[in-house]
Amino acid sequence: MTAADFDHGLGQVLGSAVAGRVKKAFGYETVGELLAHFPRRYASHGELTELVLLPEGDEITIIAEVTRARERRMQARRGTIQEVVISDGVGNLTLTFFNQPWRLKELRPGVRAIFAGKVSKYNMTPQLTHPDYKLFDELMAEGSDAGEVAREWVERPIPIYPATKNLPSWKIAGMIETVLEALGPVEDPMPGTLRQAHSLLQIDQALRMIHQPAEEKDAHIARHTLRFHEAFLLQTALLQRRQAARGLPATAREAVAGGLLDRFDRALGFTLTEDQQAVGEQVMHDISQPHPMSRLIQGEVGSGKTVVALRAMLAVADTGGQAALLAPTEVLAGQHLRSIVAILGPDLSAELMPTLFTGQMTAKDRRSASLRIVSGQARIVIGTHALLGDAVSFFDLGLIVVDEQHRFGVDQREALRLKGATPPHVLILTATPIPRTVAMTVFGDLDVSTIRQLPAGRPGIESFVVPLAEKPQWIVRTWQRVVEELALGRQVFVVCPAISASEPDPDLDIAAEELIESTSATDPAARTTSLLTPAMADVEETLARLRAMPALANARIEPLHGKMPSDEKDLVMRSFADGQIDVLVATTVIEVGVDVPNASTMVVLDADRFGVSQLHQLRGRVGRGRVPGICLFVTHAEPGSLARERVEAVASTLDGFELAQIDLELRREGDVLGTTQSGGRSSLKLLRVARDADLIMTARAAAEQLLEVDPELARYPALVRALARRLDESEREFLAKT
Ligand code: ADP
Ligand code: MG
Repeated sequence: MTAADFDHGLGQVLGSAVAGRVKKAFGYETVGELLAHFPRRYASHGELTELVLLPEGDEITIIAEVTRARERRMQARRGTIQEVVISDGVGNLTLTFFNQPWRLKELRPGVRAIFAGKVSKYNMTPQLTHPDYKLFDELMAEGSDAGEVAREWVERPIPIYPATKNLPSWKIAGMIETVLEALGPVEDPMPGTLRQAHSLLQIDQALRMIHQPAEEKDAHIARHTLRFHEAFLLQTALLQRRQAARGLPATAREAVAGGLLDRFDRALGFTLTEDQQAVGEQVMHDISQPHPMSRLIQGEVGSGKTVVALRAMLAVADTGGQAALLAPTEVLAGQHLRSIVAILGPDLSAELMPTLFTGQMTAKDRRSASLRIVSGQARIVIGTHALLGDAVSFFDLGLIVVDEQHRFGVDQREALRLKGATPPHVLILTATPIPRTVAMTVFGDLDVSTIRQLPAGRPGIESFVVPLAEKPQWIVRTWQRVVEELALGRQVFVVCPAISASEPDPDLDIAAEELIESTSATDPAARTTSLLTPAMADVEETLARLRAMPALANARIEPLHGKMPSDEKDLVMRSFADGQIDVLVATTVIEVGVDVPNASTMVVLDADRFGVSQLHQLRGRVGRGRVPGICLFVTHAEPGSLARERVEAVASTLDGFELAQIDLELRREGDVLGTTQSGGRSSLKLLRVARDADLIMTARAAAEQLLEVDPELARYPALVRALARRLDESEREFLAKT
């Protein structure tokens, strides 16, 4: 067989059966992708004592010796149970098999093996049921020199890979070994000058060392090189993309004196803040250029981003073009439509014909909306992702505004640019303030504007933690407070992290450290289990409980969550906005953009189940009108725990930038995009944005320098190939998702 390279299909090296399992478990298809499946950590002999402390549900891998083995009859049913106790000399763990008597022939006392399985508890004792294992004897037989193999086993770090039930860590290690053996020389994409300047290994060596380190130090060195590679390739790709986007043609859009924008500005009931004006000018300048704008506006909830975006949409409409506003959910799309119609007023609305387009509209409604869009009558189109589908074509799409970008990756942005005949201008709005390094990593292809001021006269929000661990009776006071607010004629949100007892909110941006580390994020079932424990407040149960409270007997209480049909959600949201509903018991569906000025109070149940930024976003739903807001974060988390720290951090400040930084630091996995938005493979692998800030900035500077001298990278063909491969992978992933 010829030597394999990164682009070789895994089937060619591992055989199609094994390759199929890898694809199913992780989605990898090529040698390069599998080799980028890096060990999560390294184990060494004797970790059992630590591992028995791991909570139920963890997938573990351990080396241990069999100390006892016995067989007994089952009591209630026919059949036998084989029980094997293993130990590392300090801790014990029981392995259980049902009706597999031959196990006792293999697992005799004194035998050593590497075991893997999922920890469950039986009679309070941790155990592994039907674990996978590989006997030491077998391992040694595979090596040439038994003594050498044994010594290595003691000294050599054992890579522990993100694994699934069907592909335990050491099977992955075995496959990677096979792949590394088949691998021919790998060309190093890193320019030699950079390799020297930053003390990097050759890529080939780094890959071998991270997967098969002879000692811990090797892995450490290899990781530095691979992290730098990751940061450098990412930054080069982002900068190239930005360079390419700026080179594309676009239609220049400029408002007409006395036109739609002027009429809107004259009728506007308030003065724009200085920040709104400054950012507005940047945007107007960008869209007046014959190249597409790619700009991100970040600003607190309620800072007036939407107004700035709407003004740009009107400037486009002045030129006869269309603008589309993309919202992350149906509810928000509906709400945007209503508030845009309201702020435009009847005359401008009649002229601009704001039109909704979402996936859950009836076929008939969708058809008539499409007609208005394709004919160019609808100058403002508001919708969800459905708008990006092929079914919708625009007459003259000049601007796309994406509200709440953080569900939009770099690749989706690329897809947006391809939507019009000529690329439209793209404006992204986010209420999640982004620390500099994150912006650099995730939005490195964008220009960033910031709105820091809030419009004057906002009454503010007071936040409190309701610590049920110490003060269980405070929950009573919490509901009393709700009753008092309702008596003042105000409205209340009650937010829960789950829809029902068996269904966590799928949009829950759960802090990464709460995910059981060893469960692969690609295994939705495992993720669901880990999200459900311990039990969390859910909409159904909370709704029933509140409706049963005598003090709330006259209150109109309704649910809102993502599983409701879209028209129902819309109806509930509209009724709440109209004051027809007093208390909304909801999931994070209400997270972004929802604007109900009369809502004064928010109670977040099990607040520790939400991420820092998400809590901050949620809180932004109250105190938006003339009434002051109150936010009560109810939590069972123990004082001093990480979970409690998160909640207290949010309660202690309203500064979104400060919270963003805290969020970043609290997230061990550093997945700044959260699991839902980043998806599987294109998310960061070894890089952690909080920890690797310096490295990311260094890599960006290096990429900038390189591109400045050689924009086409003509002198670096290996780098060009590595970038192309990266793009292929993320493109394939994007296509798989849509
Ligand atoms: P964001 O999109 O940043 O959350 P919006 O643009 O939706 O903020 O504005 C929030 C609310 O504040 C809206 O009701 C909007 O009409 C109002 N608003 C926006 N800018 C100002 C301003 N400069 N002065 C007063 N009210 C404003
Ligand atoms: Mg908004």
